[in-house]
Amino acid sequence: MKLVFATNNAHKLEEVAAMLPEGYELLSLKDIRCDVDIPETADSLQGNALQKARYVKEHFGLDCFADDTGLEVEALNGEPGIYSARYAGPGHDSKANMAKLLLKMQGKTNRNAQFRTVIALLLGSDTYLFEGIVKGTLLEEARGTAGFGYDPIFVPEGYTQTFAEMGDEKNEISHRARAVKKLMIFLQNK
Ligand code: IMP
Repeated sequence: MKLVFATNNAHKLEEVAAMLPEGYELLSLKDIRCDVDIPETADSLQGNALQKARYVKEHFGLDCFADDTGLEVEALNGEPGIYSARYAGPGHDSKANMAKLLLKMQGKTNRNAQFRTVIALLLGSDTYLFEGIVKGTLLEEARGTAGFGYDPIFVPEGYTQTFAEMGDEKNEISHRARAVKKLMIFLQNK
């Protein structure tokens, strides 16, 4: 059964393909020749994930899932959230995003934050949502070089290393891994 993952992120595709139960064939946006930048204009992670999945379903008629992730900081009422990728501007610059966040967090004692991933799956005429969360705290300065995005300033609960100091272990405990696992269990039992 063909299932589109509405992404062109090779790393995400590889991670998901490795976990997919037998009988499913994973297709990327490139595979289905979808080369538009699918709009993500909703006001929630769930809305954005649904928007991307629905675009593929409507234009290509294929079963599909899409994900959206945000870093949600308690002391900033959930910011940057849906703006995580472009917090410091449209350039998607991780260093600038982290610098802006650290500036906003200056002097704040509550450093609690969480990464949250929502996956929207459209199968036939049904819609399903899966969520993965990892809670943790924000450092005052970056540590580590692995990973991407806000990894160097995020320490997951129960650990002392940042995501950027962890390497492969991150991929087992991450928000995305947790959401993907829920999706895979659902597909296995389908
Ligand atoms: P996306 O929905 O996976 O594209 O994620 C949106 C943005 O959230 C990214 O551009 C990053 O800034 C941030 N982000 C998502 N996942 C992670 C992660 O695992 N580590 C650090 N930052 C992340």
